[in-house]
Amino acid sequence: MITNIADNISSKDGHLTFAGQDTVELAKKYGTPLYLLDEDKIRENCRTYTAAFKKYFGEGSRPLYASKANSFKGIYRIMQEEGMGIDVVSPGEIYVAKAAGYDLSQAYFHGNCKTDADIAFAFDNGVGVFVADNQEEVIAVEAEAAKRGVKQRVMIRVTPGIDPHTYEAISTGKVDSKFGSAVETGQADEIVALTLKQPHLELVGFHCHVGSQVFAEDVYERTVIVMMEFAADMKRKYGYELTELDLGGGFGVPYVDTDGRFDIDQKLSEIAKTLEDVCARLGIRKPLYHMEPGRSVVAAAGMTLYTVGSTKRIPGYKNYVAIDGGMTDNPRYALYGSKYTCFVASRIDEQKDLEVSIVGRCCESGDIIQRDVMVPSTVQRGDIVAVCTTGAYNYAMASNYNKIPYPAMVLLKDGESKIAIKRQSYADLCMNDV
Ligand SMILES: *Cc1c(COP(=O)(O)O)cnc(C)c1O
Repeated sequence: MITNIADNISSKDGHLTFAGQDTVELAKKYGTPLYLLDEDKIRENCRTYTAAFKKYFGEGSRPLYASKANSFKGIYRIMQEEGMGIDVVSPGEIYVAKAAGYDLSQAYFHGNCKTDADIAFAFDNGVGVFVADNQEEVIAVEAEAAKRGVKQRVMIRVTPGIDPHTYEAISTGKVDSKFGSAVETGQADEIVALTLKQPHLELVGFHCHVGSQVFAEDVYERTVIVMMEFAADMKRKYGYELTELDLGGGFGVPYVDTDGRFDIDQKLSEIAKTLEDVCARLGIRKPLYHMEPGRSVVAAAGMTLYTVGSTKRIPGYKNYVAIDGGMTDNPRYALYGSKYTCFVASRIDEQKDLEVSIVGRCCESGDIIQRDVMVPSTVQRGDIVAVCTTGAYNYAMASNYNKIPYPAMVLLKDGESKIAIKRQSYADLCMNDV
């Protein structure tokens, strides 16, 4: 079960604790803004996935951590130790994974615009599988494999035409998506035919990804059916039988208490049942099954701490609490209007009697972390604010806008804390300037 925000937190001496540690003390020790990641929680989430894959899909099927959710050396080491495959979307992610000592033969390389240089870089580093998005990429990967005299494993990214009823900006499985080749238009069929003709490519199967922050009941079951019907069609037409099916990521996590809950183990058992049934019905061999969870592995394991710089009350209008970070370390409200649960960590036991917007320090009115947050009216400069569920797509989407350095990242494990990413220095901000 992906747990409730409140399951992970409690208080001690009037301070919010996270992973059993005093957040105000952590803010004092490491400075703010500060990303916290509960390593024990991440490992527990990995184990939920790996155990369920083994139980329901058998040996060889497995979860691939979608590393775009949070990519730094330490996370790749954790994934290696937990037996997770990874999905990478850029040479940068390949580079960092390799620098961490991750075995890249276990990596799946995504992206809708891989350049020739990207492709060569992935070959140089021994990336296991290319997930080909389009026909031009198939030709380019074939050319590189031919040049090197090797056979390269590829999957085809298919657009199954499933709308997971999630935010437009993070919904990717619809026919008109910029990703993949659609079943409906016949383009998925064409790219399969093209791939099967390439002497240096081994087609291992089909991939799709329908979106992110998905809670809807039967999205994955419907997707499995569409994908396997497509696979059966390819078997009829080309005598090709897939060995791997990859359904991407997207399991939702609760950011606020009114959000849904997603039971990973149960959902995987339901998908497995659908896969069994559809394979039996279509008379097709059951493929190995993969998924690429990102958010559901790391989001709830994260928290961001900030220091309050000012509080502003505009009588008859609204109230603000300004913090020493913002859209630079967490652009998700600005991008999607994302919900977050926020606390004044240094006054956790006080009554919440004031409604505020928590805003960042950037020169943008849209630099908001969250509106309509209830906080104690005693909140003042110097207090510590905690924003929950920031383990996914926060550090990963951070920027240096307004020349604000990236925060440090601290891993929490067994009651100890250690730096995983050092805070950027001011010198770092211009180290490439000439
Ligand atoms: C973003 C993405 C994922 C991860 O999605 P989450 O919602 O973080 O689980 C997996 N696969 C692909 C191809 C993606 O683009």
